[in-house]
Amino acid sequence: MSNLEQDPNEIRCGAESGGETEVLAGRAVPLGGPRGMSVSRTLPNAHRRMIGAWCFVDAYGPEVAVMRVPPHPHTGLQTVSWLLAGEVLHRDSVGSLQEVRPGQLNLMTAGHGISHSEESPETLLHGVQLWVALPGADRRTAPGFEHHASLPVRSGPGFDATVIMGSLGGVTSPATTYSPLVGAELAVEGSAEVPLDPAFEHGVLLLDGEVDPLEAGPLLYLPPGRDLLRLSGRGRVLLIGGEPFGEEIVMWWNFVGRGHDEIVAFRKEWMEGEGFGAVEGFDGGPLPAPILPGTRLRPRGRVR
Ligand code: MN
Repeated sequence: MSNLEQDPNEIRCGAESGGETEVLAGRAVPLGGPRGMSVSRTLPNAHRRMIGAWCFVDAYGPEVAVMRVPPHPHTGLQTVSWLLAGEVLHRDSVGSLQEVRPGQLNLMTAGHGISHSEESPETLLHGVQLWVALPGADRRTAPGFEHHASLPVRSGPGFDATVIMGSLGGVTSPATTYSPLVGAELAVEGSAEVPLDPAFEHGVLLLDGEVDPLEAGPLLYLPPGRDLLRLSGRGRVLLIGGEPFGEEIVMWWNFVGRGHDEIVAFRKEWMEGEGFGAVEGFDGGPLPAPILPGTRLRPRGRVR
C-alpha cells in the first residue's frame, strides 16, 4: 500500500472538519484532431475526485476550433453538454440527432450503455462538458437522451442563474437527475449573493469576465455547510454541487463502474461491437478503447 492510499478516511475528515475552500487546478488535455481543441480538466483532480455526483469537468475555449469526437461508449453516468458559444451536433445509439446551442442543454444518460459522437463546424467554441455519476441503484437504467431548449432562471441580488440540472434557490431544472445536485450558469453583475444548499458541497468555475474571488482556470471547491456564495464583478460562472457521493467508483476512459472486472467487460464489449448500439451518420469509424493499465483498477471515493 502506498502512502498516498494509506488512509483516505483521515483525509476526508480533515477536509470537512476544517471547512476550508480548495483551489483545484486544471490540467490541459488535448482532444486531438486537426484544429482540435485543448480542454482544461479540473475534475477528477489528483486529490478531489468528485463534487456531489459530478465526476468530470472539462472546460474549453473560447477559441476557433473544430470539435470532432468519433463514436465512443459510456456507462454509469450522464453527460451534460453546455455551450457559451458555438454549436455542437450530437448523435447517439438510441437514435438521437440533436444540435445544441448556447443556453440549451444536451443531457445523455448512459445507464447500462450508450454510444455517441459530437462534431462542430470550424467555429468559435466555448463550453463545458460535464459528467454526473449515477448512483448504484440507477446505474444500469436504460440509456436515454434529453434536449432542453430553454431552462428556468433563478434571479437574486447581483445574479441571474440558469438552472441546468437539479435545483437552485427553489427553482428546479426539468432535466432528469438521479441524486440531489445542482448545476447552474450564473450571470454575475455587481455584488451577487447566491443561495446554496448547506447539505451540498460545491464547485465554482469562472467561464468569462472578472468575478471575485475567482481566477481563470481552476475550480474553487466549497465544502458542505455553506448557505451563501458571495461573488462580485461581471461575468459568467459555472456552479456545480450536490450531496457528497457516498459510493466508491471506478472511472476509466469513458466508463464509470464499480470494479476492475466490470470495466474490463465494458471494454471488451465495446471492442467487439456489443452492448453499445450503433451511431448512425457520423463520417468516420468508432474510437478504439485504450489499452488497460497493467495493474488492477481500484474503486475510489470522492477524495483520494
Ligand atoms: Mn462522450
